[in-house]
Amino acid sequence: MAISISTPLIHSLPLSQQSGCSVWLKMESSQPTGSFKLRSAAHICRYYASQNAKAFVSSSGGNAGIAVAHSGRKLGVPVTVVVPETTSARARQLIEQEGARLVVHGKVWSEANDYALSLATDEIFYIHPFDNPLLWEGISTIVDEVINEGVRPDAVILSVGGGSLLSGLAQGLEKHQLSHIPVYAVETYGTDSLNASLNAGRLVRLDSVSGIATTLAASQVCENAFKVACRGNVTSLLVSDEEATSACRRFLDDHRVLTEPACGVSLSLLYDRKIRFSPTDNVLVIVCGGASVTVESLLG
Ligand SMILES: *Cc1c(COP(=O)(O)O)cnc(C)c1O
Repeated sequence: MAISISTPLIHSLPLSQQSGCSVWLKMESSQPTGSFKLRSAAHICRYYASQNAKAFVSSSGGNAGIAVAHSGRKLGVPVTVVVPETTSARARQLIEQEGARLVVHGKVWSEANDYALSLATDEIFYIHPFDNPLLWEGISTIVDEVINEGVRPDAVILSVGGGSLLSGLAQGLEKHQLSHIPVYAVETYGTDSLNASLNAGRLVRLDSVSGIATTLAASQVCENAFKVACRGNVTSLLVSDEEATSACRRFLDDHRVLTEPACGVSLSLLYDRKIRFSPTDNVLVIVCGGASVTVESLLG
């Protein structure tokens, strides 16, 4: 039984013309829960189910929690999602719609996460939102699918929150002898946990995060993502909230798909021509998606 699906790979004429190269969109927004998180959640939940998990507990009020709720429902395993008070009504509704038990605990994510961890037992498996090799393995199938369609990317653009997407893509590129190609890892100025760590030369935790891209608001990236980003082929870039939302609006018009600002950060590199590519370059953009976004939230 499939939980996550093979997503469309679309050659974008508008973005190719805008950025002077061949732009390929990997449409993770088409996953049943609206983001690539279903690849990671489905992979880890399936494995834990085979290890006789009786329940799953997640601490994400965002796309990761929704994906765990969905995977549990498909596997017939009950799910509890612990979210902080800041979680939007829309996100809470999406988690409950998947049939998960929603627990609101704590003012910030770390408090919700501590409570989620306290619920874990031998039979109730805790699932981290971004820091587990099983998550990255699930995400690495993005690259398998692109290669199977006959596209060998010359560069990849992706968004960074806690770093599971970066970790998974790096793993996928390695599998296909592509670990040397340029990877552009994008955050907003207010959620720059990877960028700050690279500048410091060590893994650092941000005192505060801010702005519209709440999905990218992990105050610290996972150690593996930091290690990957230290390789010479990875470039960390920052964009503004306005650039991210404006890219979402343009993408909605160009491709009729609604995405979160967390995804707009990647698209804005192309819409705002922040990198110069050569006309023969095949540039792969991970359209990471996002479930909680509404049209109103992008009107600025
Ligand atoms: C989780 C997520 C991200 C960031 O991914 P990380 O693995 O946390 O770096 C970006 N966009 C969307 C839509 C997401 O759900």
